[in-house]
Amino acid sequence: MAESGAFKMPSGWEAVIGLEVHAQLKTESKLFSSAPHSFGAGPNTQTTEVDVGLPGVLPVLNEKAVELAVRLALALGCKVHPVSVFARKHYFYPDLPKGYQISQYEEPYCTDGAVPIELDGEMRKIALTRIHMEEDAAKNIHDDAVTGGGVTHVDLNRAGAPLVEIVSTPSIHTPEEAGAYLRSLRQILRYLDVSDADLEKGQFRCDANVSVRRIGDTKLGTRTELKNLNSFRFVERAIASEIRRQVEVLEG
Ligand code: ADP
Ligand code: MG
Repeated sequence: MAESGAFKMPSGWEAVIGLEVHAQLKTESKLFSSAPHSFGAGPNTQTTEVDVGLPGVLPVLNEKAVELAVRLALALGCKVHPVSVFARKHYFYPDLPKGYQISQYEEPYCTDGAVPIELDGEMRKIALTRIHMEEDAAKNIHDDAVTGGGVTHVDLNRAGAPLVEIVSTPSIHTPEEAGAYLRSLRQILRYLDVSDADLEKGQFRCDANVSVRRIGDTKLGTRTELKNLNSFRFVERAIASEIRRQVEVLEG
């Protein structure tokens, strides 16, 4: 599916895009345990009783993770809250041995702020809703090639790795703008030494929320969420294709 030149918005329509980025914080140990989380270690070699979800353990917050998260918040002009709260987000999946993820929900450590972007020689800012800290899930490896099909392995090395989730307001309107936002954010994360933000290592992952509305409408349309996109080019192409799909559905 070749795409030539800039994306052309179907006439009479406006797209609304909000991005959620997960970035892995550059700490030596995990968010709530002393296990290391270096990339590429042998499966299940970087875990403690906290990461494998044994009962009766005590998660202890990693001070360095907080320092890096706050550094990012200050750089983006966010409001850092003196008090924030970790919450349990419950769901069942093999990559989540505890049965819940420790995240921030009602009281994130920071809100507001913005990411500066440059597009067609012009600077503008994309406002943020919030940034919060949370732990990563483990990794399921669908090992069909080795086993001949149907077997999934669980590698707990990533379980509990420290993340920030950076949530933009729904104020991005084109695939190119989304691309510029992501490239700028990655550059800032690296410059601040907050994250290596290497997409190929899963240290920078993006979900794109997309809706469309008739030009002039002020109410937001119904969104879909494109999950776990791992290249900037794919994000732009996925958004473009989703905009076209939604307009087709609504016009039909
Ligand atoms: P959830 O966990 O339900 O996805 P979040 O608050 O983490 O909720 O993220 C919601 C994201 O979706 C934000 O980036 C926000 O800007 C965006 N969003 C919300 N409503 C719309 C909409 N109607 N169209 C496009 N993006 C939207
Ligand atoms: Mg979402």
